[in-house]
Amino acid sequence: MALIVQKYGGTSVANVDRIKIVAKKVKACKDAGNDVVVVLSAMAGETNRMIALAKELNVAPSSREMDVLLSTGEQTTIALLSMALHHLGVDAVSMTGDQIRLNTDDTHAKARILNVETDNLKKHLKLGQVVVVAGFQGRNAANEITTLGRGGSDTSAVAVAAVLKADECQIYTDVDGVYTTDPRVEPNARRLERITFEEMLEMSSLGAKVLQIRAVEFAGKYNVPLRVLSSFKEGGGTLISYEENEMESPIISGIAFNQEEARITISGVPDKPSVAAQILSPIGAANIDVDMIVQNTVGQGKTDFTFTVHREDYQQAKHLLKAVCASLNADAVQGNDEIAKVSVVGVGMWNHPGVAETMFKALGDEGINIHQIATSEIKISVLVDAKYLELAVRTLHHAFNLAEEPCEK
Ligand code: ADP
Ligand code: ASP
Ligand code: MG
Repeated sequence: MALIVQKYGGTSVANVDRIKIVAKKVKACKDAGNDVVVVLSAMAGETNRMIALAKELNVAPSSREMDVLLSTGEQTTIALLSMALHHLGVDAVSMTGDQIRLNTDDTHAKARILNVETDNLKKHLKLGQVVVVAGFQGRNAANEITTLGRGGSDTSAVAVAAVLKADECQIYTDVDGVYTTDPRVEPNARRLERITFEEMLEMSSLGAKVLQIRAVEFAGKYNVPLRVLSSFKEGGGTLISYEENEMESPIISGIAFNQEEARITISGVPDKPSVAAQILSPIGAANIDVDMIVQNTVGQGKTDFTFTVHREDYQQAKHLLKAVCASLNADAVQGNDEIAKVSVVGVGMWNHPGVAETMFKALGDEGINIHQIATSEIKISVLVDAKYLELAVRTLHHAFNLAEEPCEK
């Protein structure tokens, strides 16, 4: 007998018919003799619908109240799935983040999980019940509802699997695994049987929303066996593998992209110690994540400092920098929020020179201009105009022959 945590995303519980399909899958897993915990998202579109409602009433709604509101999406689906399971004769009980005691810090809308208590979960599992847990939500020390950031149900599932030492955490979604790139953008994308944990971490952090980055981090930290599967199609999905690959790794495993980037430059900054810290400190204080950073010396004791942020944070970041510009006596603040980041990822790239050249040449041949470049041992990212994003992804997928199975060395 195994303990399985299954997570179903928004499209998998989008309507009553789909909830019935999920109930059947859960019943099959339980009937096979397993203990089962199910973690659910809200119905597809529901979280966005509630955000829009809130913004109609208040352009800057309180983040505490937003968490109270958005957590209701998952509360709806857990009750509905439990009812569907009862109808199939399965003993099931729904539980909110508060009821399982998924404890988080205080950061409403982006809360981090501190721990998950197991007493309540284990009590119901011992009774032979399927436990249906609301993803995306927790509670802080003051017993207020918190949420874990968009796509956070993945992280709830992995956290629950980690504390229960589950035999597998299965992420059921609308694709049948992790692909070489988003199959919605490149129809020739190929499903990967396995992907290393490091590559998955890079893919998620660079924009592949099939798994939330925090879920991957958690899985790595606690060695949770993690698999991505389809709710609609049978198959083995993609296993996130923590073992060293015995065979030589492919040079490039996938292409990730993020279409919600914005770029800000503060130009003519005096070239002296600590200016970088002075520029970024108000950004950090506003809880804005900074991504690619470049500093260029432009002569006459001055530098230009450029970085990227999420498009949602663009206006606020630009506003904060205008004050920094005045205090540092810099020349100007400029920005562009119509850009996107495209990245090639592969653990095999570090000892294969020429990856960057292939990437830049392929983009150049299509007339796509690169605005900024960042590299690590296992990825190369470029910023391009947002309007070229899909073309860039398809061009690179072709340039690195990702549609084809890599041959064994
Ligand atoms: P869920 O609602 O089940 O959590 P998401 O929409 O968050 O589903 O994630 C699944 C989506 O991730 C897919 O429909 C696909 O468009 C997208 N995606 C992005 N990159 C990849 C990739 N490399 N492999 C598979 N899917 C990807
Ligand atoms: N419902 C939340 C969202 O739409 C969490 C999730 O689906 O994982 O982001
Ligand atoms: Mg998701």
